[in-house]
This record gives sequence, structure tokens and C-alpha cells, in this order.
Amino acid sequence: MSRYDVVVIGAGPAGAATAIRAARGGASVLVVDQAPYGRDKVCGDGLTPRAVAALDELAIPLDDAHRIDGLRMIAGRQVRELPWPGGGRFPAHGAVWPRRRLDAALIDAAAAAGAELRWQTEGLPVVDDDGAVTGVEAGGERIDADLVVLAAGAPGRAARLLGAERVADEPFGLAIRAYVESPRHTDRHLEACLTLRDPSGVAVPGYGWMFPAGDGTVNIGVGALSTMKGFKALNLNTLLDAYRDVVRDAWSVGPYLDRPRAWRLPMSTVRRHGRGWVAVGDAAGLVNPMNGEGIDYGLESGMLAADLFLADPTSAPAEYDRQVGARFDEFLRTGRRFAFLIGHPWILRSGLRVAVGTQAIANITLQVMGNLVDSDTPGAAGRVLTVADRGLAAADPLLRRTRAAA
Ligand SMILES: Cc1cc2nc3c(=O)[nH]c(=O)nc-3n(C[C@H](O)[C@H](O)[C@H](O)COP(=O)(O)OP(=O)(O)OC[C@H]3O[C@@H](n4cnc5c(N)ncnc54)[C@H](O)[C@@H]3O)c2cc1C
Repeated sequence: MSRYDVVVIGAGPAGAATAIRAARGGASVLVVDQAPYGRDKVCGDGLTPRAVAALDELAIPLDDAHRIDGLRMIAGRQVRELPWPGGGRFPAHGAVWPRRRLDAALIDAAAAAGAELRWQTEGLPVVDDDGAVTGVEAGGERIDADLVVLAAGAPGRAARLLGAERVADEPFGLAIRAYVESPRHTDRHLEACLTLRDPSGVAVPGYGWMFPAGDGTVNIGVGALSTMKGFKALNLNTLLDAYRDVVRDAWSVGPYLDRPRAWRLPMSTVRRHGRGWVAVGDAAGLVNPMNGEGIDYGLESGMLAADLFLADPTSAPAEYDRQVGARFDEFLRTGRRFAFLIGHPWILRSGLRVAVGTQAIANITLQVMGNLVDSDTPGAAGRVLTVADRGLAAADPLLRRTRAAA
């Protein structure tokens, strides 16, 4: 039997950030991932300015990524192209970095910092009779740890053992992506088309994206929220094909370079800590319900978990829960309520006109779409969030009662 200070289950951005920070701080760290080294992750590959700030904090060079200066939002015939704001906590640029390469860069940095890695190894938490997590079972071996970090992405077997599943009646998302060749692969803007329609013409709460990777390819995808009517019957492949038809001429897109692949976007969790463990990234439900992005939150929550462990291993899980809650809970709760709101097609239609229709509101939409808003956000976006949180709190019971039946 072996022992580490920290065992991380999952080598995505959240797990790698935890491992980098903990190992650099002097902790002994093991990361296990059930996939082989160099695995891909179904993703839009978009890095918000917030994600760039987190990568800077981890000292990960972005030379291999394609720089992005802003967001182009499209709602029907309205097109609004806005630069990332900068000037605050986050830089004025984002990036597109295909996940196969981003995740390899991150986990290589963890290894360079001294973390041990085991690939093609499923890790499952070991829970003692008192409910405390004492280590993991991995590859037929029992490994003890002072802290087990669940960084396993959307809930699976490991999350079930910890009761860290998605909250059943909260919204979640599904998204699909592929790569295409396009002469516009060096475009410096992310493009989000907010007016998606399913094949029967029903407005879909979600968006279609073109995220140029600068390497000859563009990541094309669509995502939808579970609050829409007919969600269970929604065919993401058909939705993606319909979106590709919409952008075909403007982007001169070629055929899909790979089979389109879909994955889940968890937006809540029943619990994200307990004695001896914490959940980070998607495993903690840290995905923005308004845009499906979570790489930045994964990096931040991983760093926070590691820092708190280095400061005091015993109090780290409870303190992590408190600090993650203070940073994200209000915004994510508002986002989930917003997801119920736009599940109603007529609210979605009029909301979109407002969201992109005027410059002032579009600036706020930009901040929301860039994951730039949280409990520390000053200015208009922060105030709007607080007002929206109160307003939506009052409307929440009604929104849930009248939610579009699946
Ligand atoms: C189609 C799509 C598009 C998206 N686009 C964007 C975007 O453009 N920008 C953005 O910021 N976010 C985007 N997201 C969200 C983003 O992909 C996630 O928020 C991000 O990957 C979360 O990172 P993570 O480290 O928490 O989990 P993951 O990246 O999912 O990594 C989890 C890892 O855990 C491993 N694992 C799971 N269970 C076990 C186990 N029991 N034992 C060992 N290993 C295990 C998996 O193999 C995996 O490597 C998108 C998501 C989807 C589905």
C-alpha cells in the first residue's frame, strides 16, 4: 500500500491545476486518469480571458494557443462584435487551444512539478465507516491520501460513491462539437449564434459556435439547456448539421474532419466536499449555465483546493467549500434560474433581442459570456447580477412550475 499527500482523480484542467499547485508547494501528488496520455476532451476549446489569467497564474505559456480578442454575438440579423474588456482582473484577450494540446501542456507541467501520473487507471474513492475518504482504489491497489480530489468531470462512478451527483431538478446542458477546415481559421473572434432552432423551428436555449483554432481548423458546435421543451428528443447531430448550414457560406466550411461528439455539461452538484475530499471543476458543477464554459472555473477551483490543502490539510475541505461558494454560488444559481427562464421560447426570443440589441446590454452579455462575472465583479455587470439574482429568486418557483415539459 502506498501513500500520498494528495491523490487527484482525473487529469483534465481542474485535476492538472490542483496537481501543479500542490506539487509546486511541496506536497506529494498522484494523478490517476482512466484515459491514456494525450486523450481528447469533447469541448469548444475556447479559453475566456478568465482562463488565460488562470493559465498565467500557473505559468503555462500560451504560445501554442490561438489568441482571441473578442466575441461576435449573432442574434437573427443582428451582429455585434465586441472586444474582451480587459482593464480589471482579467486580460483583454482569450484564446482557442484544442483540448488535446491544452490538457497535455497542463499535465506535463504537473509532472515537471513532481506529480506522479498513472494513465488508463480508474480511481475510486475509499470511504471509511464514518463517511470520511481515506484514499483511492486504483488499478487494484489501495492508495492512502490526506486529501482526495475528485476532478473526474461530469459525474460518473467516482462521484456516485461520494454522493456528488448532479442535483436532479436543476438544469444541465448537452453540447456537441466537431472540427472543420475554414479559410477563416485565424479569425481573432469567437463567434456565438444565439438564435438556434431545432428542425421543427422551435427556439433552442443555447447557442452555436465557431471557435477558430488558428491551425487550419475551426471548432464548430452547438449546445442546449435541459430546460427546453422537447429536450429529451433533441437530436444534437441534426442541430449541428442545421447550424453548419447556417455558417457554411460565411465561413466556407469543409466537411467535418471527425465524427461529431457530444458530452454533458453539469451545472450543479449535491455536495462538493466532505472529510478527506473535495470536488473541483465539472465534478463540482462549476460550469456557467449561460454559456457552458468551465475550463476557467476548473483551473481556479483546482488551484484553490491545493492552496487550502497546503495551508491546513484538516480544514481544507470545509474551507474550500466556503470559498468556492463565496466566489461562484450566487452567479451559478442566477445562471440556473436564467436557464429556466429562457427555457420558455417567447422569453428567449424577446430576451435575445435585448441581450444583443443595445450596446450597454451587449457589454453585460459579453461579460457573462466571458465568465468575467462573479461575486467580486464591480460595475454594471456586477449590479445587474445582484438585481437579476433577487428578481429571479422571486420568480424561481413559478419558473420551475411552468418549466417546459421535456
Ligand atoms: C461540447 C462542449 C463544449 C465545451 N466548450 C467549452 C469551451 O469552449 N470553453 C470552456 O471553458 N468550457 C467548455 N466546455 C466545458 C469544459 O469542457 C469543461 O468545463 C472542462 O473540461 C472541465 O474540466 P475538468 O478538468 O473538470 O473535467 P474533464 O476535462 O472532463 O476531465 C476529467 C478527467 O477525469 C477522467 N476520469 C473520469 N472519471 C475517472 C475515474 N473514475 N478515474 C480516473 N479518471 C477519471 C477523465 O478521463 C478525464 O480525463 C465544453 C463542454 C462541452 C461538452
